[in-house]
Amino acid sequence: MTTQPTASHFINGAYVEDTSGTEIPVIFPATGEVIATVYSATPAIIDQALDAAKAAQKAWAKMTGTERGRILRRAADMIRERNHELSVLETYDTGKPLQETLVADATSGADALEYFGGLAATLTGEHIPMGEDWVYTVREALGVCVGIGAWNYPTQIACWKGAPALACGNAMIFKPSETTPLCALKVAEILHEAGLPAGLYNVVQGLGDVGASLVNDPRVDKVSLTGSVPTGKKVYAAAASGMKHVTMELGGKSPLIIFDDADIENAVGGAINGNFYSSGQVCSNGTRVFVHKNIKEVFLKRLSERLEGAVLGNPLDEAVNFGPMVSERQMGIVLDYIAKGKEEGARLISGGERVDMEGFFVAPTVFADVTDEMTIAQEEIFGPVMAVLDFDDEDDVIARANATDFGLSAGVFTRDLTRAHRVIGALEAGSCFINSYNDAPVEAPFGGVKASGVGRENSKEAIQHYSQVKSVYVRMGDVEAAF
Ligand code: NDP
Repeated sequence: MTTQPTASHFINGAYVEDTSGTEIPVIFPATGEVIATVYSATPAIIDQALDAAKAAQKAWAKMTGTERGRILRRAADMIRERNHELSVLETYDTGKPLQETLVADATSGADALEYFGGLAATLTGEHIPMGEDWVYTVREALGVCVGIGAWNYPTQIACWKGAPALACGNAMIFKPSETTPLCALKVAEILHEAGLPAGLYNVVQGLGDVGASLVNDPRVDKVSLTGSVPTGKKVYAAAASGMKHVTMELGGKSPLIIFDDADIENAVGGAINGNFYSSGQVCSNGTRVFVHKNIKEVFLKRLSERLEGAVLGNPLDEAVNFGPMVSERQMGIVLDYIAKGKEEGARLISGGERVDMEGFFVAPTVFADVTDEMTIAQEEIFGPVMAVLDFDDEDDVIARANATDFGLSAGVFTRDLTRAHRVIGALEAGSCFINSYNDAPVEAPFGGVKASGVGRENSKEAIQHYSQVKSVYVRMGDVEAAF
């Protein structure tokens, strides 16, 4: 196997082990084999990380943005140089095909470090003239930020949270999902090799309780979570009691609307990307595919034909383009939803079962004739299950698309330019696509509305969520007072 992290935690610039914490086996989802063991952070470990972050942050914030940015950009270059090794580790951690991880994970983490490294020197305030007096503003760091990650993009999430936090002068403590604990440790290792002072990017392992004790600690100023809506509600509430800043990147049940004038091949491609990439374990997936009645059968036919191109197998084999579910548990959740789809009368077009091979594989599954009330059209599945719903009226499909508590993403396929913008304008979602699906470059804001989240990751928007503004009134004349 690839170079593994050498201990469970990374604190104050070094790997730290404490085997008195609960044992967490790390399982390669393609075989079920245990490939590593990490130990959940004990209160002493959590304390160590918080103290280290608190002690290091102020000096880091005093460095110039150029100096901070240089370190982040150096780390980006190192990640790119080690992309193959990091991608193999990501594949072991998540089970995602190497074909995917080579281009989507460490590389997107490097993009974030490069982008925010570049922005670090541009973070300035304003000068506001007030006659002879003036006000100036200063963009300041928040302090200690906690990042809590989901298991689907462990390297990317560690960087998407770490890069803007560090660029703004904060320290970060990152807790990966216990399902995929390895990759964030390598991010920490590389950041420190690139020159990041000790204590500024720490990784501690553990389950929800470790996340919860970080969120509740008074030394913490901000929490950024990527996870499910129920966890988001808990973490948001805990952060609120300490009046902490939050970013919440939560789940979705996003609509992808395909009109009858759409380019069918592109629409099918968009639906495949929006449902089967990472075996469907993507929060922004367009899992409610509304297809205009006039093109429904031709859409389903081309979709079925193209699904034959799915190559299942050992994700380390670069010819494989469809991997297993991240865990046996997630496989069970997805299979239960598939059973519900069948029971509730959706028409199974393909897949619909566990694949008879080693590992946690669920076949790429498509249901047609799905109606809005069916469970598979309402709940986030987080697996390779596409629900195809019919429509024939624009206003009606917009209303149906919006009839959900979620609001992460939305997509439209049409050749009609004005319709594309009109429909996207009416959809209640944060990250949208026209004639495409699931592009997430670091330059674009990413995040949801409604129950799907609060705040935005990536782009210049993220700066607002990792910094705060101090305003200073400067009086040039005398102070007038009543007495
Ligand atoms: P969970 O919500 O179960 O967990 C997310 C993280 O929060 C994990 O690290 C988890 O630890 C931790 N956690 C759980 N309970 C608490 C708590 N009370 N306090 C603090 N931390 C806690 O999500 P999954 O890891 O199962 O990931 C899948 C979900 O993430 C999906 O619903 C998906 O939609 C969402 N997601 C959203 C994305 C977005 O950007 N909007 C991107 C990717 C995924 P542990 O796992 O160890 O229990």
